[in-house]
Amino acid sequence: MSSNPLSLLNQACFLTGAHDHRHWPTDAGGEVAFVGRSNVGKSSAINVITGHNSLARTSKTPGRTQQINFFELPGDRRLVDLPGYGFAKVPEKLRLHWRTAISHYLEERESLRALVVLMDARRPLQALDQQMVDWCVGCGVPLIVLLTKADKLGRSQQNQALISTRKSLDELENLRIELFSSTKKQGVEVARELIVAALTWPN
Ligand code: GDP
Repeated sequence: MSSNPLSLLNQACFLTGAHDHRHWPTDAGGEVAFVGRSNVGKSSAINVITGHNSLARTSKTPGRTQQINFFELPGDRRLVDLPGYGFAKVPEKLRLHWRTAISHYLEERESLRALVVLMDARRPLQALDQQMVDWCVGCGVPLIVLLTKADKLGRSQQNQALISTRKSLDELENLRIELFSSTKKQGVEVARELIVAALTWPN
């Protein structure tokens, strides 16, 4: 593993965004993908983890929010921003599209090394999050669960959120659960280390 995970992650730059798997980058090397409900803090997390102020803004530009966005790293590695789920008023057609694109990505992508699953620390493991975890577990890659916006909770509430989420997901293997705050840069170092370890393992 790199002695300074940020030195790898900081080199991330936008590669491409696409709905259709035929336009995704070649499935080689290693990828770590980010997934979570809309508004969970996914873009902020990608920005702070990579040390860029606005890297993931690309994923928010009109026309790109429902795409799978790929960010290139050296050595044929990539970070992948999967479209946010759980919009209350998403039309059925879009929901279906989301499921199709994501399930294709999760089920087929050989270069997927780990998934970062983001959940709001104030209400982790809502029904959709639980479904997402079940789905991700099916991919057989390590999961890194980040409990976002932890700064909105006091210390004891943070601990409670961490303990109860760990307890709920107790039976799963290959899983890390960490408190995270982009605003306060909490949990950023450990997230970087886990991501870089997944990207660079076994070489
Ligand atoms: P995304 O839709 O999942 O990409 O979420 P964003 O990163 O765009 O964040 C959604 C909202 O939550 C924005 O208003 C952010 O400023 C806010 N937000 C994101 N991360 C944090 C955090 O760590 N702490 C707090 N307090 N707010 C955050």
